[in-house]
Amino acid sequence: MSGKEGKMAPGRAALRLTGVSPASFRALSSAVAGGFPKQVKVVEVGPRDGLQNEKGVVPTPVKIQLIDMLSDAGLPVIEATSFVSPKWVPQMADHVQVLQGIRRSPGVTYPVLTPNLKGFEAALAAGAGEVSIFGAASEPFSKKNINCSIDESLQRFGEVLTAAKGAGVPVRGYVSCVLGCPYQGKVAPAKVAEVSKKMYSMGCYEISLGDTIGVGTPGGMKDMLSAVLGEVPVEALAVHCHDTYGQALANVLMALQMGVRVVDSSVAGLGGCPYAQGASGNVATEDLVYMLHGLGVHTGVNLQKLMEAGAFICQALNRRTNSKVAQASCRL
Ligand SMILES: [Zn+2]
Repeated sequence: MSGKEGKMAPGRAALRLTGVSPASFRALSSAVAGGFPKQVKVVEVGPRDGLQNEKGVVPTPVKIQLIDMLSDAGLPVIEATSFVSPKWVPQMADHVQVLQGIRRSPGVTYPVLTPNLKGFEAALAAGAGEVSIFGAASEPFSKKNINCSIDESLQRFGEVLTAAKGAGVPVRGYVSCVLGCPYQGKVAPAKVAEVSKKMYSMGCYEISLGDTIGVGTPGGMKDMLSAVLGEVPVEALAVHCHDTYGQALANVLMALQMGVRVVDSSVAGLGGCPYAQGASGNVATEDLVYMLHGLGVHTGVNLQKLMEAGAFICQALNRRTNSKVAQASCRL
């Protein structure tokens, strides 16, 4: 910086020009320049998004024990299972037994995926207190994954949302392929914003933006979020980053810097995506929590107990953990 520029702080000059109050300027500059929230809500999706995409069917008691261990670790939200037809997803055929077998910790929510009204009614009958619906920002992905166009999927969601409203059940909405699609490649940020806005205005209390195949970079995240933030308030947004290209934590960090306070993750990095070959699971919850705690962000999660849950499920599946934190800690 030259001596001339140093005479006046650029921030002050900008304040005078725009008439922004000092307090709102501080809030704005901390959001833009990498301020982090005091608290982040971690949404554990391993038992559903993770196990659904693992090879083989996990025994029901193992699923129940995993969810109970995750509850003990202090996760505030644990997506428990999916009320989708066993014909399509045999891994989740035991949804009723899982939902009724888990020990529900006070203050923890256990949403379940409900693709249509039939699934919603079954979930409600089984005691679900919160549900999720799953849409896409990519037309070909919607057709292959849920067998209908984006518009048709929104119609189905409308039925679920109406029924859920009547029953007083909150609905979370997923938008998948927000940073890329295995069939069409690039996905326009404007399309993500359009679908997110529709799902939010239909009544979803939270929109989880999913990089389903893990191709995004922080640059793509920034562009996509900038578009979505024009349509949906930041308090209603979550990010859901798969780690195929090793960008998940960096993408999460970018989202946090842009004001997002809710992050999905999967214990031990479980999962993948059946429609995208080679796609890795979600960012590992252990790695996310380690990063957040390192930033001084409160999560309420006990990392040691979380790692025990990760070790338990990896042993049950006879697979190696995808969590770098868990791998590193094994060697200590
Ligand atoms: Zn996912």
